[in-house]
Amino acid sequence: MLPDHPLVLHGGCNCRAIRYKVQVPARPERPLNPFSDGKVPFPMVAIDHCNDCRRATGSILPTWICVPTSMMSCQLQPISSPNSHDPNDSAATSSDSSPWVPAVELFKPGPHQDNYHLKFYQSSEAITRTFCGRCGTNLTYFISHGMGEGFPEIFDVILGTIDREDLEKEWMAPDRHCWWSCGIKWVQELSNGGKVLPVHPTYKVNEFVE
Ligand SMILES: [Zn+2]
Repeated sequence: MLPDHPLVLHGGCNCRAIRYKVQVPARPERPLNPFSDGKVPFPMVAIDHCNDCRRATGSILPTWICVPTSMMSCQLQPISSPNSHDPNDSAATSSDSSPWVPAVELFKPGPHQDNYHLKFYQSSEAITRTFCGRCGTNLTYFISHGMGEGFPEIFDVILGTIDREDLEKEWMAPDRHCWWSCGIKWVQELSNGGKVLPVHPTYKVNEFVE
């Protein structure tokens, strides 16, 4: 569970063409999940067992931070910038010179979409997923007609795209499982403290963590 004080989370894609930040206000100013009896504020961090997100992300256990769109801004490197197609070029791996703009302006399809590496997949009229067209990182899920009465407009952001310095904070650990009723049994067991697996420090499966 996120702490009560204001905080800023940073993240982005693997090649840094797309950067975002989430400015989380103090707890009393955060909107509440209307399906939580007023108990769960946004942003909320949830492990997702649904079939669509497993396939779309390619992750056996996608995890999201559900962020009111008003809290999120982004910094996108234009495709037209010098060396923009070479992720190994240091000038191309930072979008630091681009301005920060509200994510609602760029994380939805529009006339700007050909200008940036941020790409869109509209799986239906209402649902848009975004990913980096250069490095392939999945970034967000968005429902244009909203989640229902009382819900703020939300970007679900793939938790693994948050920068490591922020992700290491204990409060970033998922709060809950969602779509459990769609889940795969062994994945549920793995994700909920089930079977203990051998643990290797690297790829060498003949070495074990003490
Ligand atoms: Zn990228």
